[in-house]
Amino acid sequence: MQTLSERDQAVIWHPFTQMQTAPLPISITRGEGAVLYDEAGNQYIDAISSWWVNLHGHAHPYIAERVSAQLRTLEHVIFAGFTHQPAVELAERLLPILPNHQAKVFYSDNGSTAVEVALKMAFQYWHNIGQPRTKVIALDDAYHGDTFGAMAVGGRSAFTAPFTPFLFEVDYIPAPVPGREEEALAKLEALLDDNVAAFIFEPLVQGAGGMVMYQPEILNKLMQLARSAGALLIADEVMTGFGRTGRLFASHHLTEQPDLMCLSKGLTGGTMALGVTTCAQAIYDAFLSDDKFKTLFHGHSFTANPLACTAALASLDLTLSDETQRNIQRIASRHEHFTQVLQRYGCVRNIRQQGTILAFDLATSGQTSYFNNIRDIAYNFLLERSVLMRPLGNVLYILPPYCMTDEQLTYVYAQIEDLLKT
Ligand code: PLP
Repeated sequence: MQTLSERDQAVIWHPFTQMQTAPLPISITRGEGAVLYDEAGNQYIDAISSWWVNLHGHAHPYIAERVSAQLRTLEHVIFAGFTHQPAVELAERLLPILPNHQAKVFYSDNGSTAVEVALKMAFQYWHNIGQPRTKVIALDDAYHGDTFGAMAVGGRSAFTAPFTPFLFEVDYIPAPVPGREEEALAKLEALLDDNVAAFIFEPLVQGAGGMVMYQPEILNKLMQLARSAGALLIADEVMTGFGRTGRLFASHHLTEQPDLMCLSKGLTGGTMALGVTTCAQAIYDAFLSDDKFKTLFHGHSFTANPLACTAALASLDLTLSDETQRNIQRIASRHEHFTQVLQRYGCVRNIRQQGTILAFDLATSGQTSYFNNIRDIAYNFLLERSVLMRPLGNVLYILPPYCMTDEQLTYVYAQIEDLLKT
């Protein structure tokens, strides 16, 4: 009889996967806390919160209970002309905890769509006020998702190469990592003109670009400069939101406020797909008119799905609890301690940490792309030792669910050390 993994191979095409050479996928049957279990009964500690989404671990009973109650009451309703309690309550609860500039919530389905919506709001804002602007400035190696607009504002790479002719042009500045701050400022200054519609960035941590980290002070300066030319500031907090950086949002480390924000991933604690784009009042106001053509013509079938909004409400309860806040600080300080340990290894470079995110580079002999052997060697080594990590090229990182225990963290660190000793 065929295993589930074999049946999968016959019918399924997986994301970011070269299907000809990839090993059979591991069939996961259940999850509990930070641990996933496969068909054969093997366990995996999920050290990356399954693509950075599962804030509270897997199959959290509180979220499950809330979502299942909602499922029996109202599973879905069209969101044009109708509304419902979970959508309203979620927006009412999100806005006061976001940077104070945010005034309205627009729902979509995932991180990429949250970014698409922010871009469309920004371009149409300028269109609606009668001063069309067409330029966007982004950071080198940014990652904002895989839909066309989100790809366009991301860094150009092997991932985007086949689509280059279809992506609108974007101007890039270097990520303002330590040592490159002045260069980033100078480049931004040179690019700014009255055609810049928006400046988009992942605040403090560029995720898929390699967990590239930079300081709030330089981002404040870049934001100030971009704003001086009128550019709208889009903070993509799809990965950094909901406690990842040690504060509830990475933007809370800043003195400057974004005009638009993109949220997803941890929004529902990894339970359901949901995206949120929030904007400042002035942006919203530019769409209010007797002229129907000033409407934001955007929506998805599953906009503001009540189950997803309920999962987000439940996840928010957990995130804001004292226990989770303590766990975030606990993980951050365990990481900090582990950075000292990592310094002992000659093959480790560029150790960096922001709250619950710890990353470092593995020294390579010139192989630094996503497609190098080091990535596969590290991935397989750790997986064989029951740790799920997914290096980005030669960048290893941990981004654990907040419920990961000290014992589990110790085990993960130990496996990383074993890898470094090989
Ligand atoms: N923005 C950032 C910063 C991300 O890290 C990601 C996903 O990794 C996205 C957007 C896209 O989100 P999604 O994969 O939900 O479309």
